[in-house]
Amino acid sequence: MSSPSPALIHLQGITRSFQNGEHTLQVLKGIDLTIQAGEFVALIGSSGSGKSTLMNLLGCLDRPTEGEYWFRGQATSQLDADARAALRREAFGFIFQSYHLLPGTPAVNNVELPAIYAGLRPQERHARALALLTQLGLADRADHRPNQLSGGQQQRVSIARALMNGGQVILADEPTGALDSQSGREVLQLLQDLSAQGHTILLITHDPQIAAHADRIIEMRDGLLIRDQATGSPQRSTTQKKAANIPLAAQPPRPAQPWLDLWEAFKAALTALHRHLFRTLLTLLGIVIGVASVIAMLAIGDGARYEVVDRISAMGSNLLLIRPGAPNQRGRWPATLVPEDVEAINAQIPHLIAAIPELSRSMTLRYGNQDHTSEVNATSAAFPLARQWPVAQGTFFSQEDEAQLATVAVLGQTVAETLFADRSPLGEYLLLDGTLLQVIGVMSPRGASPMGQDQDDVIFVPFSTGSVRLFGQRHLRNVTVAVADIEQIEQVHQAIFELLLARHGVEDFQIRNMASLIDSVTETQNTFTLLLGSVAAISLLVGGVGVMNIMLVSVTERTREIGIRLATGARAKHILQQFLIEALAISALGGLIGVACGLGTAWLVGYLGTPVYFSTPPVMLAFGCAFATGLIFGYLPARKAAHLDPVRALATE
Ligand code: ADP
Ligand code: MG
Repeated sequence: MSSPSPALIHLQGITRSFQNGEHTLQVLKGIDLTIQAGEFVALIGSSGSGKSTLMNLLGCLDRPTEGEYWFRGQATSQLDADARAALRREAFGFIFQSYHLLPGTPAVNNVELPAIYAGLRPQERHARALALLTQLGLADRADHRPNQLSGGQQQRVSIARALMNGGQVILADEPTGALDSQSGREVLQLLQDLSAQGHTILLITHDPQIAAHADRIIEMRDGLLIRDQATGSPQRSTTQKKAANIPLAAQPPRPAQPWLDLWEAFKAALTALHRHLFRTLLTLLGIVIGVASVIAMLAIGDGARYEVVDRISAMGSNLLLIRPGAPNQRGRWPATLVPEDVEAINAQIPHLIAAIPELSRSMTLRYGNQDHTSEVNATSAAFPLARQWPVAQGTFFSQEDEAQLATVAVLGQTVAETLFADRSPLGEYLLLDGTLLQVIGVMSPRGASPMGQDQDDVIFVPFSTGSVRLFGQRHLRNVTVAVADIEQIEQVHQAIFELLLARHGVEDFQIRNMASLIDSVTETQNTFTLLLGSVAAISLLVGGVGVMNIMLVSVTERTREIGIRLATGARAKHILQQFLIEALAISALGGLIGVACGLGTAWLVGYLGTPVYFSTPPVMLAFGCAFATGLIFGYLPARKAAHLDPVRALATE
């Protein structure tokens, strides 16, 4: 079109066919039509002649199969989906026979809908919606929901909605079809008023009397225009401009307002979730259980790991343990380690606190008439230093005691308590396999070993005393080496290995490093934690599938709502955003509640005595997973919603 002022609407050779399986049904069969701005056109024709199909094309809800539609001189075939949405939003106002209001939503919010997508600020939007409702005589019905309104009132709400963004072109598809004659007359009057104010009106009706009120009547039959005539109706000129002036609003500028968009989508999401509260709660429950179990499981798994590591480190992570026997040898202790090996290590290896020999055996102690069986450990004076295990009462034996084969003993807490109860054992004598030993000290309590044995059920004697007087054996069961600087534990390990290899000629000993023992235990425990964690993660996944399920149901159920939103100018992006935000809102809320429940459960488990360990990463991980779950599982349904065909969506019930 190159004329200086193009027609508002110009159609040329428009056809529209529907593919129905093998059959192609041609509904519009080549329509040429021009409508000037400000015209009031009535479109009549028998049912099924293609009127609604034509109107959907005019309103950019649908696209022609062939032919071209120029709107204000712009070929609409050149417009993309967003540009067509913009036209629906800014130029057209739809009025349907069945009103198509959002169910459960107050009238005023229904009226506001197109302005949300036009980016009008909330206060302005609300004020304008109220003003429109007031002008249409519905001031006292603004907060009523559609099911609380009569048909005529609902239709007036939908007219207010059509005018919300200006509604330069009003497309009314049998707006009076479902109304009683009185309400029908009122609606017709409103349309005439709007026409008088300069709105362009296309009114579909099959009532010739109503059509007679228009300036021009177009008749369709079987997909073709068969009549197009001016009525010469006097109505137009005599119309009282009694309806107040609803300004043909200059389009509100639409600055980029992503936050406002998001906020609106968030509010719509909350409303939708609230409407199906029970369903929302059940979906929420899935996510809550998933997140809570991930957090609780990881806290318990980590708790178990740290406890084992703590117990091992309590023994001293700076220790090297040397045992007799080749690395893969099993069975009784071979007699390969001797006290001279310990002396050599103490003399030749640097960076040591001490190397101490240990030779132990279970024996029965007698004090007075009491017997007690305990572990007797023959070791050196450096034991408390090397094992970082101080004496609580009295003293440990000295190197002199060792040299003199002194008959002295130091008791572990359990032995002291069992044999002496509240009395001080210091200075008392114990009989041990025919040898009398004098108690010179009591060790501080040590608790259970990593394997769960009572480390305090022990008595210590000088190595020489034990080996010569008690056991009659000088081969060692164990040498403990305490390294001064844990950084050097590897070098010391290597140096001792070389020294012993040189002394023995063969590798008939094993050296174990506590640090590496901790590493391997940690690894085992990590596997355990991972196992717990993955079981929990699966439940989170199941929760995610629940979200997807519910969103798919929701999309199917709310197809008509999506159609209404699209018809009032929502872009695919808005619909995508809204459904995605619904999924995210469920997941995030479920995540938060799940975090609280998970921490609560872990706390309770800890309170009941099982070790738990709280740390931030599992919480972040679980919440992050819940959020990602919402995003991933919400995306497909949201995309499905966003790509619905507006006409079909509107047609669903
Ligand atoms: P009117 O509004 O004049 O009563 P419509 O435009 O709604 O008629 O429909 C005209 C014809 O097109 C009808 O026969 C209808 O069955 C058919 N039709 C409309 N929409 C579709 C569709 N989406 N798929 C298949 N056929 C359709
Ligand atoms: Mg129809």
